Amino acid sequence: MRVFKFGGASVKDADAIRNVADILRQYVGTPLVVVISALGKTTNALEAVTDAHIQQTGKAAELLQAVCDQHLSISRQLIADEQHPLYSHIAQLCSGVAAMLSRRPQATYGFVYDQIVSLGELLSTRIVSAYLQTQGIDNEWIDVRLLLRTDNTYREGQIQWKHSQQQIKTLVTPIIKQPKMAITQGFLGGTIEGFTTTLGREGSDYTAAVFANMLDADSMTVWKDVPGILNADPRLMPNAVKIAQLSYYEAIEMTYYGAHVIHPKTIKPLQNKGIPLHVRSFVQPDQDGTVVSKNADNLSTALPPVIVIKANQLLLSVVSKDFSFMAEENLSRIYEIFARHRIKTNLTQNAAISFSACIDNTPNRIKELLDELEEDYSVKSNAGLSLVTIRHYTPEAIAQQTEGREIVLEQKSRYLFKCWCDKKQYFDSL
Ligand code: ASP
Ligand code: MG
Repeated sequence: MRVFKFGGASVKDADAIRNVADILRQYVGTPLVVVISALGKTTNALEAVTDAHIQQTGKAAELLQAVCDQHLSISRQLIADEQHPLYSHIAQLCSGVAAMLSRRPQATYGFVYDQIVSLGELLSTRIVSAYLQTQGIDNEWIDVRLLLRTDNTYREGQIQWKHSQQQIKTLVTPIIKQPKMAITQGFLGGTIEGFTTTLGREGSDYTAAVFANMLDADSMTVWKDVPGILNADPRLMPNAVKIAQLSYYEAIEMTYYGAHVIHPKTIKPLQNKGIPLHVRSFVQPDQDGTVVSKNADNLSTALPPVIVIKANQLLLSVVSKDFSFMAEENLSRIYEIFARHRIKTNLTQNAAISFSACIDNTPNRIKELLDELEEDYSVKSNAGLSLVTIRHYTPEAIAQQTEGREIVLEQKSRYLFKCWCDKKQYFDSL
């Protein structure tokens, strides 16, 4: 069996959804689970609804209405008959969130966020599922929140593996055996109490990988608007080239350091079961994309320099106030504080009494982190940086990437890896 994942760009409007149907039509009669994200930039729009609700700006209902109207308009272009059950599903989902907005927020930001933002995937899967059915592509819409049980870490739900696997095996296997396509939501999970959780932004790739793992899939495919995995972001390097085969190891390193093509958490569940990952273009579905698999383990030496950039970094310099050495005791304490605030250190270095780290600048968590660190350390922070990583570097690639840049922290291994944090800020969408 196969698992497919379609991201926001692949379902951004009615034409895009028709294109998804064209791709799926070729797989009718084969066992297939299809994991879908919210349409286009819906998640961002729903984040704005959440913020407006939490801050009680008075704009939340209006912003929600715009999201619902846009989904209705796309639905009308796909299914003209307004008596179709799709329209009552949309009305029900939208009025559920509207009712929540009409009350003052009582719960934590994370809880409220997940209950609102999950609307995106619930709507997108309803629309795609209904449209496929009208096209004669028999499928079943499944509520992933009943399958993937998570803890209640809202916005970063941790999947409870055993229960989820049992649910998936019992509820999904009979559907795909018929064979009928199973259509479900990426990015979402559910707690034991029946509340919705989300798995972290861009988490639909991970959802698909979890399904692939639990169902022992033969392969997983992520359908993208790029021809596969490239050695650099083509928006920054027009001469970027596609890599035909990549090992799990290379793929996880690239994505961890900021290659946006797939979510870094996607690799582990696939690697653990040796399931190949295909990254293919929904624009040119007849082309081979990139295959990430164990067969590529010996091909790493043939790779071109792979350049990944992570924007919006913050450099922290942490110095012990009492001049105690930055040795194991202080370091383990500092790392413990980072872990508790769920801040990932992307690049670190230490000296006699100082520790420097280049970290993701996630504003609401950073403030709490700084408050705690400042109790025992003097801390300086420097925002607006970028983290540049070159794997399989060459002197030319380094020269090209470092020209005219002011590097503030760097690391290099003998052949493989060079990474630095510098003062150039890339555009936000990177
Ligand atoms: N819709 C969610 C997001 O934009 C999940 C995903 O696209 O993977 O973050
Ligand atoms: Mg998305």
